[in-house]
Amino acid sequence: GKPVCECNTCFAGPDCSQFSPACPADVDSGNPLFLEPYWMQHAAKGAVVVAGWHRMSYAFNDHSIISEELEKHIRKLHERVGNAVTEGRFIVFGVGSTQLLNVAVHALSNSSSPAGVVATIPFYPAYKSQTNFFRSMDYKFVGDTSMWKNTSDVNMNMIEFVTSPNNPDGQLKKAVLRGSSVKTIHDHAYYWPHFTAIPAPADEDLMLFTLSKLTGHAGSRFGWALIKDEEVYERMLKYTDQISFGVSHDTQLIALQQLKAIFQGNNGSDIFEFGFTTMRKRWEILSKALSESNRFSIQKIEPQFCTFYQQLRGPSPAYAWLKCERDEEEDCYEVLRENGIISRRGSVYGAERRYVRLSLIKTQDDFDLLMLRFNSLLSQENFYG
Ligand code: PMP
Repeated sequence: GKPVCECNTCFAGPDCSQFSPACPADVDSGNPLFLEPYWMQHAAKGAVVVAGWHRMSYAFNDHSIISEELEKHIRKLHERVGNAVTEGRFIVFGVGSTQLLNVAVHALSNSSSPAGVVATIPFYPAYKSQTNFFRSMDYKFVGDTSMWKNTSDVNMNMIEFVTSPNNPDGQLKKAVLRGSSVKTIHDHAYYWPHFTAIPAPADEDLMLFTLSKLTGHAGSRFGWALIKDEEVYERMLKYTDQISFGVSHDTQLIALQQLKAIFQGNNGSDIFEFGFTTMRKRWEILSKALSESNRFSIQKIEPQFCTFYQQLRGPSPAYAWLKCERDEEEDCYEVLRENGIISRRGSVYGAERRYVRLSLIKTQDDFDLLMLRFNSLLSQENFYG
């Protein structure tokens, strides 16, 4: 007989084709599927075919474990977008930028006493969880940056994570700590025209980028670091050699193919046009829906001049950082969950319970469902006052 179809919570009916009203809007994860339609439109350009006997060697052309061609394309893309200085910078590849977070912490904690690792609340949780997980003698996570700002005689080398634009709130950030004992890791995962104005090329000592939020190929696990100091570069390279002898060549091939495809699209404008338009539209829809609400608010991001577009542009962040306005103790995650929206708790980012993060970078269906659920939640407010 016919196999019985097990529907998930979002679909019902004998062949699971009927959309179920019980389906929650799941905007928890930062899965960058908003770019899927772009690659569907450019299916041939993004495709990769590899023969079975191809690229078997540990090395490219028998000398390097990183693709020089890929490195060249990364530098060219930064120059085209104007979001980072690559001149005089070394490049290290990683298994996503996730791997490079700890590679960077390791490389910067080159001293006899443990370095203190900090980030500013609300911050991306991996900085803390990874640093704790490795339980190294060389570094330890010591909390929110603000706790260390005024301690002028901190007897410790410090490593500050700076995320710009920030995950979760989309703000462009600068380092907080200063001084000779402070080193910084600038995480620029979202410093692309999809998500933010590009006021100037980033020019910091150690910068991290990822393919995940640029082309959307999160599953390919590819990130890179731009490094000014040669000694730091050597330490990072040594780490990646030790643990994996570099990044999969298949991954590098996929990354190269996507970057090449980007340049074929109107010399690298197409994908950002698509990304920015999509993200901007979503932000405008959400902002408009919330403009009358006293119950919820989202972060304000000022319009800024964008050197990539050569004009002032409004916000288009990857995430909404939503605040429940009713009372300080309110558990915003629960409020949303009861109304069919799965968000991410503010506490994940070190913030209060009245904050949650809503991902705006998933599929159009995910976003549409979010708005459907949100609008019905907001209409209760209008009804009950
Ligand atoms: N940094 C930030 C701020 C992120 O949001 C993410 C992914 N959500 C990463 C780094 C890691 O991304 P990946 O490992 O996919 O490169």
